[in-house]
Amino acid sequence: MNLTEATKQKAIELGFDVVGITSAEPIDSVQTEELRNWLGTGRAAGMSFMHRNFASRINPAGLLAGAKSVICVGLNYKPGPRENLSGRARASCGRIANYALWEDYHPFIKKRLRTLARFISDSAEADKCSFKICVDSAPLAERALAQRAGLGFIGTNRMLINPHLGLQIFLGEIITDIKLDYDTPMTTRCAECNKCIRACPTGALDCAGNFDANKCISYLTIEHKGQIPDEPARKIGDRLFGCDECILVCPYNLNAPPCENTQLRFFTGYKEIQPDSVLTWDKARFDGFFADSSIKRLGLERFKRNAKLCLDNIETG
Ligand code: SF4
Ligand code: SF4
Repeated sequence: MNLTEATKQKAIELGFDVVGITSAEPIDSVQTEELRNWLGTGRAAGMSFMHRNFASRINPAGLLAGAKSVICVGLNYKPGPRENLSGRARASCGRIANYALWEDYHPFIKKRLRTLARFISDSAEADKCSFKICVDSAPLAERALAQRAGLGFIGTNRMLINPHLGLQIFLGEIITDIKLDYDTPMTTRCAECNKCIRACPTGALDCAGNFDANKCISYLTIEHKGQIPDEPARKIGDRLFGCDECILVCPYNLNAPPCENTQLRFFTGYKEIQPDSVLTWDKARFDGFFADSSIKRLGLERFKRNAKLCLDNIETG
């Protein structure tokens, strides 16, 4: 078994559902121009971090000198019967996006990628090798790289779609200066059924494949600082944190298997949060409740902002 095969086998042993390898060359010129145009037209909304480090975002070698390969991994997080998923526990509860019902995936994936990097380092016939581990933490066009590594294709909803695993996939990458064998990009394409566009409550997606974060509920409830404008606020409905509509309706999601990783913890209690009770929470309650969750990065103030909107929307029907 060569180093590439051993690396992939180890990644699966570590609990990842899919792994692929691509070169550390820049992403292609079409994707680069799309990203430049998206940023230039203000559709990244208040995500100023997206504007920083553009050069390394499109070029993994900008993050690691001498980079040759990018190992892309995916972890299926689709909840299944084991997680007793029934949306909200009650009609008076707020909705949390599926990915945030699990423990914070950043440390979970980073820990396993560090183990994978150590394994590669021990196995490689090289005096010295370098690695850069990325899980949302570094500026990197991770979906474009995952596509090139054969993990899936990018759909009209801008999500990475794996024809077998669907769209509920956490991504992580290791950039390394070791030359591994590269996978071929997937040829399967989005079905272009436009169900995601029709399901979007706010019109954040359009038929031309444009995505406007200014209108996206995920952006507004997770990334946006300050008050949420009235128009999208009403359409947020009972969504306390994030939005899954453009994922859930996608045909590739319907038959996708549920997460089988028993080490990834699922918090059923997050489906039982009532917005009116959130308004009484103090910082200690918030920090304790979300201690192992990516929701803690939102902070109590913005979580209460979302809860107030949900409450207004639930009361006005
Ligand atoms: S996450 Fe929700 S609001 Fe954002 S594009 Fe998808 S369906 Fe629209
Ligand atoms: S819902 Fe249809 S158009 Fe949208 S990403 Fe899925 S297959 Fe593509």
